[in-house]
Amino acid sequence: MAELIDPWASFSLDYDKLVNHFGIGKISDILKDIENPQKLMKRGVIFGHREFDEINKLINQNKDFAVVTGMMPSGQMHIGHKMVVDQLLWYQEKGAMLSLPIADLESYAARGMSFEKAKEIAVDEYLTNWIALGLDLERDNVNVYLQSQNPELQKLAFRASNKTNFSQLKSIYGFTPSTNIAHIQSPLMQVADILLPQTEEFGGPKKVVVPVGIDQDPHIRLTRDIAHKLNEELGFLTPASTYHRFLTGLSGDKMSSSKPNTAIYLNDDSKVAAKKVKSAKTGGRESLKEQQELGGEVDQCVVYELLLYHLMDDEKELEKIRNSCLNGTLRCGDCKALASELMEKFFDELKDKQIEAREIAKTLI
Ligand code: SF4
Repeated sequence: MAELIDPWASFSLDYDKLVNHFGIGKISDILKDIENPQKLMKRGVIFGHREFDEINKLINQNKDFAVVTGMMPSGQMHIGHKMVVDQLLWYQEKGAMLSLPIADLESYAARGMSFEKAKEIAVDEYLTNWIALGLDLERDNVNVYLQSQNPELQKLAFRASNKTNFSQLKSIYGFTPSTNIAHIQSPLMQVADILLPQTEEFGGPKKVVVPVGIDQDPHIRLTRDIAHKLNEELGFLTPASTYHRFLTGLSGDKMSSSKPNTAIYLNDDSKVAAKKVKSAKTGGRESLKEQQELGGEVDQCVVYELLLYHLMDDEKELEKIRNSCLNGTLRCGDCKALASELMEKFFDELKDKQIEAREIAKTLI
């Protein structure tokens, strides 16, 4: 029997095992067909997909498709979240409609967050930084909304709930008879979020892609099943998805908004962000002598991950660092100093853009 992935709990790092368990396709198998692939696809950070080949065909034919990615406003936005924004930038360049739900109903159900506070966090943390990172959220084909203020979404969630039952939700999420009903409802809101771009209001049925971490796959599987069942009634198509690796936290655990020692927050000061890089766990050996003899453990290194995911665009430079780490000629101190300098520069540029971005963000919801 396939194991459960609980989207509200911790996560597994065995990506290959999960791909095999859940029948997810490998991005590496279709990479050659993608024109100018997104950096994270080339680097294997986006490792899996369901039906992304269909989306790729639409991109190549200049046809309509939509991208959905939600945010649950529960805390500060950290640098790991930037990964999704980088993907959205790529899709926006390819002409996609962007549908960006703010899951305030989910944060109410899962975290007890008031709607007012959720809206404040969505504006200050998420929308401001999404704009500062380069997304144009004022385009006509961008839809940003709060779940609690979208009657169409609620209607769609109700229709979706008519196509599932407790047994199915229990088998996907592991719900028990004592699970709170709001908690049971929240995946159905997410199903509706993913299906919303296919409604008449947005031009009718179309292919949608959802870029997510593997922990969100239960929602994708449920949505695909319900979309299939709604096909006859509403003509909906099954949504596609891509799966990316998580950015490891500074201490070596998952990066989490609620654990300050694991995360670099996008609202951190640039000097603080640079200092945090220096505190990150590396794949360095116990002693310099050992490092020179054995080389560093580059794939266990948080500093290298920061370079790979966010700080270094130049493939050759990155490869040089990887090789010098592996052959023991690069010292962790020098490597950290470089990453820290790049992080400070990135944050200095981000700070300049955040002020104007915040003003735009306030007008969106
Ligand atoms: Fe990490 Fe750099 Fe040390 Fe290698 S040299 S383990 S990449 S910090």
